[in-house]
Amino acid sequence: MKKVVIASNNAHKVEEIKTALDFGGWEFYTLSDLGVVSDPDEDADTFEGNARIKARAAYEAAGCAALADDSGIEVDALDGAPGVHSARYAGAHASDDENNEKLLAALEGVPDEKRTGRFVSTLVFVDDDGTETVAYGTIEGKIGYAPQGSEGFGYDPLFYPDQFDGARTLAQVSQAEKNAISHRGNALRELKAKLTDKL
Ligand code: IMP
Repeated sequence: MKKVVIASNNAHKVEEIKTALDFGGWEFYTLSDLGVVSDPDEDADTFEGNARIKARAAYEAAGCAALADDSGIEVDALDGAPGVHSARYAGAHASDDENNEKLLAALEGVPDEKRTGRFVSTLVFVDDDGTETVAYGTIEGKIGYAPQGSEGFGYDPLFYPDQFDGARTLAQVSQAEKNAISHRGNALRELKAKLTDKL
């Protein structure tokens, strides 16, 4: 069995990762499953840089292969903000609701056609021998005017993926429907293909 630690305490992300990477022979653990503390400063200015910081720190702390995701939302009318600051857009310990309120306030008066944006995910996998595999995924859509739906997390209630033609947010679909089109789903499919080639 190959042991892989997922460098995240976000239960939604952990479930998405475990479901997508269904390699036979791999066993996934979270940092808390292993009783390991790893909380490095995510001070890079790219998603890839922050994913690398988290993956390397978990690899060192747990002493086994490690996988980290860094993700966020980029809004075109805000020059790509919140971007790498998505988790703490409304402050260091901001809740999802506070972040969503701040995003809606920043977009006040911005018309439909300019409310475009995307979720971005970068995955960094560090193997037992320290070698790295990196994968990316995005999903394009529009930012709404009020939260809709109760599934998912983060900015999902404000995000209308292009695939649903403005009819549903990512918080109004099942986890399986989200995984099939999401930024993290796409990044995980790319990672799985790359690792399958490598193994
Ligand atoms: P990270 O955990 O440091 O990568 O921060 C990611 C932040 O981006 C989260 O706290 C959310 O605010 C946002 N985010 C990332 N992926 C998603 C998603 O799938 N849905 C909604 N928000 C997301």
